[in-house]
Amino acid sequence: MSNKLTVASLTCNPFQENCYILYTANKDCIIVDPGCWSREEKQRLQSFISQRGLKPVRLINTHCHIDHVLGNKFVADTYNLSLEIHEGEIPVLDSLMRVAHTYGISDVDESPAPGSFIQAGDVITLGDCALKVLFTPGHSPASVCLYEAEAGILIAGDVLFQGSIGRTDLPGGNYETLMQSIEKELLVLPDNVQVYPGHGNPTTIGAERRSNPFIKEWLAQ
Ligand SMILES: [Zn+2]
Repeated sequence: MSNKLTVASLTCNPFQENCYILYTANKDCIIVDPGCWSREEKQRLQSFISQRGLKPVRLINTHCHIDHVLGNKFVADTYNLSLEIHEGEIPVLDSLMRVAHTYGISDVDESPAPGSFIQAGDVITLGDCALKVLFTPGHSPASVCLYEAEAGILIAGDVLFQGSIGRTDLPGGNYETLMQSIEKELLVLPDNVQVYPGHGNPTTIGAERRSNPFIKEWLAQ
């Protein structure tokens, strides 16, 4: 590995969502899916960053479900960052306050509107790392994953989990679309790629290729 990308996670909010902080030796960091909701969760993120002397340079959502965006406003305001999402996630982001009401989640900060959009094939540079944007819809209408090939790291959002896949029953979700995203964008990656999902433990592409029951069933068709 010629470059070094560090992946740290903070598990947040009642949905136990993984917020990821990606950073390199130059201490620039990207905050992906800040789910921090309570004051304590926001302080935990802020302390993590300040204790390591990190400099947040980008704020990205893999997709805009409520559990992944609760800290958007806090991160945008605290670090003077503008939000980056895939354009196809705008309707999901726009539904935030309504969804919060449905789930009975109070004290929700309305997310800032996106300042720019990311799309398939974009390359996001961080120090000497290059994160490629993979378009992986199906769990939500325009989910993306971030892939760093040299480090062998995939930030997977809610597309692929250890032993499972993202749910497809929410607005804009579609099972066939999700499985095609997994097959065409993720299963083409090397077995040793570390997968960091939006919920639960990290896994690898190889482990999921071998034993994920949803993938096995899909590929057996
Ligand atoms: Zn989700």
